[in-house]
Amino acid sequence: MSKQFDVIVIGAGPGGYIAAIRAAQLGKSVACIDAWSTKAGTPAPGGTCTNVGCIPSKALLQSSEHFEHAKLHFADHGISTGDVAMDVSKMIARKDAIVKQNNDGILYLFKKNKVTFFHGTASFSKAVEGGYEIKVAGKAEETLLAPQVVVATGSNARALPGLPFDEQKVLSNDGALDIGAAPKKLVLIGAGVIGLEMGSVWRRLGTEVIVLEGMDKFLPAVDEQIAKEAKKAFDKQGLKIELGVKIGNVDTSGKGVKLEYTNAKGEAQTLEADKLIVSIGRTANTNGLNAEAVGLALDERGQIVVDDNCKTNLPGVWAVGDVVRGPMLAHKAEEEAVAVAERIAGQHGHVNFATLPSVIYTSPEVAWVGRNEQQLKAEGVKYKAGSFPFLANGRARALGDTTGMVKFIADAETDEILGVHMVGPMVSELISEAVVAMEFKASAEDIARICHAHPSLSESTKEAALAVDKRTLNF
Ligand code: FAD
Repeated sequence: MSKQFDVIVIGAGPGGYIAAIRAAQLGKSVACIDAWSTKAGTPAPGGTCTNVGCIPSKALLQSSEHFEHAKLHFADHGISTGDVAMDVSKMIARKDAIVKQNNDGILYLFKKNKVTFFHGTASFSKAVEGGYEIKVAGKAEETLLAPQVVVATGSNARALPGLPFDEQKVLSNDGALDIGAAPKKLVLIGAGVIGLEMGSVWRRLGTEVIVLEGMDKFLPAVDEQIAKEAKKAFDKQGLKIELGVKIGNVDTSGKGVKLEYTNAKGEAQTLEADKLIVSIGRTANTNGLNAEAVGLALDERGQIVVDDNCKTNLPGVWAVGDVVRGPMLAHKAEEEAVAVAERIAGQHGHVNFATLPSVIYTSPEVAWVGRNEQQLKAEGVKYKAGSFPFLANGRARALGDTTGMVKFIADAETDEILGVHMVGPMVSELISEAVVAMEFKASAEDIARICHAHPSLSESTKEAALAVDKRTLNF
């Protein structure tokens, strides 16, 4: 017999578990189904983000940053440590414990909000009167029924054609977060957010890291001035980034990996390394869904086709997060999830895609919201820009990290903030002020007139807002 719910959510990543909780808060009876398992086979809700994405990557970035600070910077503070060593297995165990806390936290939240959780793979069975029949294949087979279905099945790392991940020598993000000891040499294909974060972790632990990028521009989505500053910092750290390369044959038959490629000058090159991390984008998880059974429309890339409100082509079926168009970010998935749950409950959920922040958690961090100079130029928008370097910020000096800047871009006539771009210490936190300002359609002058605590990194935000009208006080 099928179990009846108001809403069935497929996937318990940030899109799925948040949709389930919000729908339950709004009085719906909700089932959430997720396939992810721990190594022991127990449920591991949280999706890519919790298990092999946002959370574990930040745990490793933190450990490796502490290690680098202890090695390179503690002495500046008068702290002597003797030899500093890294126990990689302990670092990985700490990361695993943090992931587990998050898995358990989500199971607790399901209980608290009365969401019924099913551990297994969900697929559409058929459309029936009153909704959709969903099969769950897990330890036990279940049949669920609901008039509303939210698909939040996320994405998977894309492999190079003909080179599947073995997670030993050819790694996706899954394997890159689980290397047992720092390799001597690592090649990374793809200088995107994930590539730079993973490259930073292992470089800090002593690995020689070479990043190969097909595009001839570094971080093309980032404001050019900010990307240039970030590249300068990564070069200085010894992260070797080669742009404009074409990957050729990859041979994994030996002890490590032998990779052939053509560099930007068209010269044939060969590299040997212990491991290869491939980080060239992600593909939507729609394979197991049996979308054909109900005629759920997918696009040519395998993503579920949705409108601006995350409605699919089927009445009562919604899709959110990585499985649909738009940036593959956990907070984008969460915002869509809340909006969909509210729409299901008859409310008017809304997502402002223009104010989604993006962050790269390297050191220096890179963060931005809104449009950058190259986009505004292409659109013919008249703007004014101003920046403030952390070098002139007292708190950054006290921290011992003065890399980078905050940059404001405002409309030339109205002064409305069009974009804020940052590279430097803790800008992942600073960017929120810019997001709030843009949500409230603030002008650069508004930020410039707000009192910011002294000494704080956030004073650089105020000063950059002042810089738009060329009236910084401390630079
Ligand atoms: P997912 O998190 O992928 O969750 C989908 C879930 O659905 C999974 O648990 C999957 O097992 C399950 N599922 C799939 N098919 C089925 C099925 N048929 N039946 C049942 N369950 C199914 N984003 C950020 O915003 N900030 C970051 O710092 C960040 N860092 C990242 C670092 C790395 C290394 C990676 C890989 C990604 C990172 N991301 C980051 C991206 C972020 O993880 C994703 O955008 C986010 O997880 C998408 O959420 P989602 O709910 O759409 O999908």
